[in-house]
Amino acid sequence: METRVRFAPSPTGYLHIGSARTALFNYLYTRKVGGKFLLRIEDTDLQRSTEESTRSIIEGLAWLGLDYDEEIVFQSDNASKHREIALKLLDEGKAYRDFTPKELPSDANIKEAIAERARQNQGEKNMRDNPFRDLSKEESDKKAESGEPFAIRLKVAESGKTSFEDGVYGFLERDYSEIEDLVLLRSDGHPLYNLAVVCDDIEMQISDVVRGQDHLTNTHKQILIYEALGEAPPRFAHLPLILAPNKGKLSKRKHGAVVSLTTYRDAGFVAAAFRNFLALLGWSAGEEREIYNLEELIKKFSLEGIHRSNAVFNFQENDPRHWTDDKALWMNAEYIRTMPLEDLLPLVKDELKSAKLWREEYEDGDKAWFEKTVDLIRQRFFTLKDFSQQGRAFFSEDFDFDQAAIDKNLKKFPDLQAWLPELADRLETVEDFTHDNLETVVNQFAEEKGTKLGVIMNGARSVLTGLAVGPSMLAVFEALGKEKSVLRLKSQIAWNQ
Ligand code: GLU
Repeated sequence: METRVRFAPSPTGYLHIGSARTALFNYLYTRKVGGKFLLRIEDTDLQRSTEESTRSIIEGLAWLGLDYDEEIVFQSDNASKHREIALKLLDEGKAYRDFTPKELPSDANIKEAIAERARQNQGEKNMRDNPFRDLSKEESDKKAESGEPFAIRLKVAESGKTSFEDGVYGFLERDYSEIEDLVLLRSDGHPLYNLAVVCDDIEMQISDVVRGQDHLTNTHKQILIYEALGEAPPRFAHLPLILAPNKGKLSKRKHGAVVSLTTYRDAGFVAAAFRNFLALLGWSAGEEREIYNLEELIKKFSLEGIHRSNAVFNFQENDPRHWTDDKALWMNAEYIRTMPLEDLLPLVKDELKSAKLWREEYEDGDKAWFEKTVDLIRQRFFTLKDFSQQGRAFFSEDFDFDQAAIDKNLKKFPDLQAWLPELADRLETVEDFTHDNLETVVNQFAEEKGTKLGVIMNGARSVLTGLAVGPSMLAVFEALGKEKSVLRLKSQIAWNQ
């Protein structure tokens, strides 16, 4: 049988990184065996589903390079089929009409009292305790015909167990006594989640369901629906959760943007790096290595490599330097530093464009300069944003000076105010403005002034780039070229900061 998996997000918010990881694992799992990866938008909660969210899901998958193989299925399109199936189960006596009035009292205190009683009763509640469960067909039909509203519930057997072999957790079972007669169809005719998912998974011929561990309880219920329908359930694999640093739930509500996939795209992550990071969030190939391209991930991926313990997403709230998982940032830096330059250049172009720093010459007359400069500055960068921020001085005359750098490397050495313009005059005489030629001149200059080379270099770095750190200064001179280097060494702007 062909392997067919699906990613089935509910479009009720931005794509959560946990969902993105679920999509990725489905993708890797099926690509490895040449199966199909399908996308189903579970938009049955009409109040909470939005088109914007659907768009963000589609964009997020495209960004991560997870292409799906068939047209998107929108679950709401199948609602009438779901209803028919519920009615069929009712007809076959596998489901029953529940005429219990659904409206709860509007008074908040009474509502709370009812909820409290439900909580207290939970342990001992008899799940089959419904007055309409054993109503005769005639009586039930009569009530329905008279217009009494009803929900349709699955008639779960009095005793027994559901079980399945989970691809991650192994053999799992659950006693029927722990499963209520679940509602399939609400009294307003709205099909509920478990029914809709089972019907669609059958219809889409899904062979393997890979989803979050938070769906384990649903899986047992869904198996009962498969049985009632006389269909073989798919294989199931549940993924451990991704937790917040305090081991609590990682949620959009509490943690905001840090859990939204688009945040990473917008913060200058390289998609391949973030995909690599997500893959390692709860999975490993059982080796030390951590950098994998997509092809390698597909080759190495297996359910056996999924950890049974929950993964932790390590970030420090309220600390801008550690705003997201340090490993994610490290991995992004690693990609920026080592990826083929030709793959990086279009990403840098996009970044410079959005910062209004892009010039067409970078792909024309200044192409060689641009490539060399990107290659030089990428060594210390963490995100693509760094190209337009820390790297700004390479692409614009309008860049900021870091006050700490100015204080430490410039103002602490007042002699530099005269020396740097003097060095500029000296550099002006260098015909061939290359690393080696510059080295001789600058070394000699420092020697003449009887100062450490570092003092000259750090001072020069501060006025040339506005920063305290960066690539080798000789390479920076060369990258900026004679004219800009001379102008900036002579400029007093930094001294007036
Ligand atoms: N729509 C469900 C969710 O977003 C997933 C359903 C499934 O994978 O079966 O949590």
